[in-house]
Amino acid sequence: MRLSLILLHTAKGLILSDPGHFPVREYRCTLTCYTQTCSLIGYNPGMLSEFDLIARYFTRTPRAGSAVKLGVGDDCALIAPRAGYELAISTDMLVEGRHFFAGTEAGALGHKSLAVNLSDLAAMGAQPLGFTLALSLPAIDEAWLADFSHGMLALADKHDIALIGGDTTKGPLTICITVFGEIPSGKALRRDAAIAGDDLWVSGTLGDARLALAALQNTLALDAASLAIAAERLHRPTPRVALGMALRDIAHAAIDVSDGLLGDLGHILKRSHVGAVINADALPYDAILLATQPGETQHEFALNGGDDYELCFTAPTSHRDAVQAAALASSTVVTRIGSITAAGLQVTDANGKTLAITPNSFDHFSKI
Ligand code: ADP
Ligand code: MG
Repeated sequence: MRLSLILLHTAKGLILSDPGHFPVREYRCTLTCYTQTCSLIGYNPGMLSEFDLIARYFTRTPRAGSAVKLGVGDDCALIAPRAGYELAISTDMLVEGRHFFAGTEAGALGHKSLAVNLSDLAAMGAQPLGFTLALSLPAIDEAWLADFSHGMLALADKHDIALIGGDTTKGPLTICITVFGEIPSGKALRRDAAIAGDDLWVSGTLGDARLALAALQNTLALDAASLAIAAERLHRPTPRVALGMALRDIAHAAIDVSDGLLGDLGHILKRSHVGAVINADALPYDAILLATQPGETQHEFALNGGDDYELCFTAPTSHRDAVQAAALASSTVVTRIGSITAAGLQVTDANGKTLAITPNSFDHFSKI
C-alpha cells in the first residue's frame, strides 16, 4: 500500500489529500485529525517524498469544462483542443546563475518562469490552456517551494490555466516550463508574416528590466527606490496575452521582446525577408530609465536590453485604428515606433538622422 497522505492548506481550509489516487482524493480535516491519521498509519509528514512534494505544491484539479481533460497524476495529461483550432506549444528554461541570480526571491521566480512562457503564447496570439513544469531542485526547502508555487500558480489563476504535469528531480536549480495554448487554425501571428510598408509597433514600455540588471550587476548606480521599481520589471514581467489574442486578425507578424528589441525584431526581418526603420525618439521608454539615465543609455537599454516581455508586431497602415482598439480592449498601451522596409535595419532620431546603434541582443553561446 502506498502511504502518501498529505496536508494541504487551501482556501477551503485544511484538506487531507491522497495523491496516490487519481483523481486525487481529498478530505476536509482538522490539524488534530491529520496528526492522528499520520500517527495511525505510521506516516512521518516531516519527510517529504517526491510525490508528496508534487501533491502539496504542484497539484491542481483542472477546471471542469476546460480543454484539459486530465491533469497531474497519470503518465500523461490530456488536452482536447477545440475543432478548428491549432495547439500552440512553447518551452522556456530558467537556470540559476544563467537566467537569474542565486537567491532570487522564490515567489518572483515562480511568477517569471510562467510569465516568460505565456509571453511566447502571447506573441503567437494564442490563448493559454495549461502548462507543465520540470523542476530540478538542489534540496527540498518547503518555505521556498511554498513561495515558488504561490508565485507561479497566482499567475496561472489570473490566466485561468492549470498546471497539468511535469517532472521533479534533484539537481542544480532549473525551472523548465512548457505551455500549451490554442489558436484558430491559420490565425497565428508568425515571424515570417511582416510585409514592407507595415507599421512597426511595440506594447508597454522598454528598458527598466535592463536597467535593474545593470544596477544589480553593479555596472551602474541606482538609488534604492528607483531600483525597487525597475527590478519589478525584471522580476515580474507581464505577459501580453490579451493583446496578442486581440491582434489575431489585425497584425501581420509578432514576437515577444525577451532578448532585446533590435535582436528580436531581427528575427522577424530575417524570416520575413524585409527590413525596418525605427524612430528611437518615438520609443516608449520606462519611467526610471528616463528619469535616471542619459539619452545614450536610454537608447541602448530600450533597444538592446532584454527581459521586457513586450510584444513587437507589424500591421498594415490601414489597421492603425484597429490596433489602438485592440490595445484599449486589452488594457495595454501600444506605440508606433517605425515601419517595415524592403531591407536593412536602421535606427533614426525624430528628424530621420541615422543613429549609430547596432543590435547587441543576448545570445547564450556568444558571450561568457
Ligand atoms: P513518471 O514516472 O511517469 O515520469 P512522475 O512520477 O515523474 O511520473 O510524476 C507523477 C505525476 O506527477 C505525473 O502526472 C507528472 O506529470 C506529475 N509531476 C511530476 N513533477 C511535477 C511537477 N513539478 N509539477 C507538476 N506535476 C508534476
Ligand atoms: Mg517523471
